[in-house]
Amino acid sequence: MRKLQSAHGGNDPGAVYKGRREKDDNFALAMEVGRILSENGVDVLYTRTTDDYISPFERARLANEAKVDFFISFHRNSSPEVNQYNGVEVLVYDKNGIKYEMAQNIVGALGELGFREIGVQARPGLVVLRKTKMPALLIETGFLNSDKDNQLYDEKNAEIAQAIAGAILGTLDQQQGEEPLYYRVQTGAFRKRENADRMLYLLQEKGYPAYILQDGELYKVQVGAFLQLDNAIRMEQKLREDGYCTLIVTK
Ligand SMILES: [Zn+2]
Repeated sequence: MRKLQSAHGGNDPGAVYKGRREKDDNFALAMEVGRILSENGVDVLYTRTTDDYISPFERARLANEAKVDFFISFHRNSSPEVNQYNGVEVLVYDKNGIKYEMAQNIVGALGELGFREIGVQARPGLVVLRKTKMPALLIETGFLNSDKDNQLYDEKNAEIAQAIAGAILGTLDQQQGEEPLYYRVQTGAFRKRENADRMLYLLQEKGYPAYILQDGELYKVQVGAFLQLDNAIRMEQKLREDGYCTLIVTK
């Protein structure tokens, strides 16, 4: 179980720049990351699903009471002067344990999208990091008063949510010693190897990255192995246009 919190809300807008309010960015991102995590089987709780103000103490108390496994707080940064700084950082109570790993993975994933990587910082004084009893992270997804960060934030909005959710899921898989989860597009499952071979041959002839996976008595013909579900869906659409009956699987 994981808890997501979009910081500020209600009468507390957080940072404000050119009519842009931090609380709105935080809320939309937290909901989208939560949606992706839920789709991947994570039980997600939100500290707020409406535009109401909840104090950091209350958020920490809610998380402790619900006994969640992780606490993740969404913020956007702000510098004293406009366009003074840019980049992403993740704050943790101290640089230990899985929260530190997860924080580093999130910074790295956002860095891949083009954000400057400020890195992971220990901030033991922050209420939501100090008062929570579970691993807790506070993500500063770029500076709200940086035009450069805002441009990236808006252009890559969907990718940002994917990157954060992917880093969270990847860290959990690592912790459990599991291989990362890949989405594969299955076009057929046959008892006779020669039928699978025939489908494989036709797919490969059309340039698809197809292969056969033997699973018990079945020969499964699959195409691709994608970390991002979106990419598997795109491949599935292409295959369907080519007349294949498809199924997205994870094994
Ligand atoms: Zn904030």
